[in-house]
Amino acid sequence: MRIGGSCHCGNISFVLDWRPEPSEIPARACGCTFCTKHGGVWTSCPGGALQVTLRDASRVSHYAFGTHTARFHVCSTCGAVPVVSSTIGGRVFAVVNVNAFDDVDPALLKRSAVTFDGESEAVRLARRQRNWIADVRGLDVDG
Ligand SMILES: [Zn+2]
Repeated sequence: MRIGGSCHCGNISFVLDWRPEPSEIPARACGCTFCTKHGGVWTSCPGGALQVTLRDASRVSHYAFGTHTARFHVCSTCGAVPVVSSTIGGRVFAVVNVNAFDDVDPALLKRSAVTFDGESEAVRLARRQRNWIADVRGLDVDG
């Protein structure tokens, strides 16, 4: 299933090729302080492929906090946060914000609340390597 998404102004857009075809899409409302303030509700498909397109990469700001292992890609024009990445062992992993989806039947979304407070950094990175999208292209992950 190909899922398109974008920030509000369209500067950051993505196509997520969800494989295999999903019967439901987990939508995890993260309870961290950043995601609470930004409405971050994340999903990922470990076997999927994510292509991100930045119309103007200079209008994307990057934010990290806490362990600084996750990079939030924030559109500096409209303020939306469609993608988060984490570079682990030289490989880029990512999750996408279901609130940035353009064309998904909301009935497919299986919503839950999650909190990762208290998780050690090693456990956190191992979880991302297991669950996050491992085939990610087009994101600015340096600097
Ligand atoms: Zn935007």
